[in-house]
Amino acid sequence: MPYRLNKGVYIVRCRHARCPFNARLEIQETIMGMTEADVVTEARKVAKDMAGVKHESIHQGRQHTLQNPEIRMVSGNIQLVGAGPALTLEHMAEPLVREFQKGDVILKAGESATAVCEVLTGAAYPLRNKNHRYSVGDCFGVAALLPNHARMIDVVAGEDRTRIGFYLLSDLNKKDPRKASQVLQRVIEDTLDVIGELEQTLS
Ligand SMILES: [Zn+2]
Repeated sequence: MPYRLNKGVYIVRCRHARCPFNARLEIQETIMGMTEADVVTEARKVAKDMAGVKHESIHQGRQHTLQNPEIRMVSGNIQLVGAGPALTLEHMAEPLVREFQKGDVILKAGESATAVCEVLTGAAYPLRNKNHRYSVGDCFGVAALLPNHARMIDVVAGEDRTRIGFYLLSDLNKKDPRKASQVLQRVIEDTLDVIGELEQTLS
């Protein structure tokens, strides 16, 4: 599932006349969905349910339940899961394939790295090195080869409808060792290319 709520905080206000209920609620549970809209819908539902329980406990004896409340997200955001937490990818039978539009962030610097990426259609490039272009068949995301490594650079989609395969190499190796070694080789080639380019700019 490609989208996840990150540190969502909601304010829920009861619209009943003269009801002072106005609660700030932090959503602790993991909410994920296939689209951002799915996450928003689900998160609002969870916030409303939490508020309902709280409304009940605080305003016992009032002649109304929380109805048609005003629900506002006051902090937090909805993140692309991408190659984020291992829990998303680890249990997947098939590699995750996601589609990006031109300029969309595929990998974000600082995110935890668990998957390596292959361009299936379209193109991508490192944000800070637009001349380093990833075309169909190219692989990147070397940080995923080391445990507990974060992404070092942002990689963005170069074209609309760019499709990227995210692979957990250990899984891929079990299912398709030849493909796994091919992906590994291309990731390493890419890393050597990047180092080569860096050396050129330094000399
Ligand atoms: Zn109320």
